[in-house]
Order: sequence, then structure tokens, then C-alpha cells
Amino acid sequence: MATDVHQLDDGAWVSVNDTREVNVSDLWRLAGGGFCSCQLTDFLAEGFVEVGVDGGNVEARIAGQCIQCGASGVTGWLTLGRVDPETGDFRPVAPESVHRPSRRRRDTPTA
Ligand SMILES: [Zn+2]
Repeated sequence: MATDVHQLDDGAWVSVNDTREVNVSDLWRLAGGGFCSCQLTDFLAEGFVEVGVDGGNVEARIAGQCIQCGASGVTGWLTLGRVDPETGDFRPVAPESVHRPSRRRRDTPTA
């Protein structure tokens, strides 16, 4: 089943298969110092910039800021959740666990 992913309302929502699944207001915890100089970035998401599907993973780049140091910008690709290949159900990740943005999407064609 092909997965259909869009951003809605100027990046406030990500819809998966025509259902609004992820709201932007979450606080994400990002590892690695890639976004700012904090060891762990407490990232306040303000808008989804790009969304995509990689295999069963729903991914997005998110604009926002670190609430520790105030740095703002756009993250690398973050996995928002997975779509069950058989049922099409979306299973979100926990934003408060530590995420590792990747600079580029893995090279698999968009379904
Ligand atoms: Zn920071």
C-alpha cells in the first residue's frame, strides 16, 4: 500500500493517508549537537518544512528552535513514525525520546 504524506496548514500538521497524525507543537529531543551547540537539543517544533516517506518511515524536516540556547533553524530529516505496511496504520515515535536527525534521506525511492 502506497503511503501518502502531506503537510497541512502551513506546516502545522503532517497527514498520513489523509489523516492528520502529527501536530507540530511537540518538543523534540535531538542528539549530537548537530542543530546547535547544546549536547542535547530541546527542540521546540514550529513548522514542518518538508515531509517524505522512506520505506515505511514517515520523515520530516522541522523548523523551530532550541529552548536552551535559542538557536533557530531547520533540522535534518527526523523519523516521525512508521506506517504498518499491511494495515496502513500510522505509529508515531515518542518525540521526547532522543532523535538523531540525518543530513539527507536514505536513498530509497519514494513509494
Ligand atoms: Zn541549543
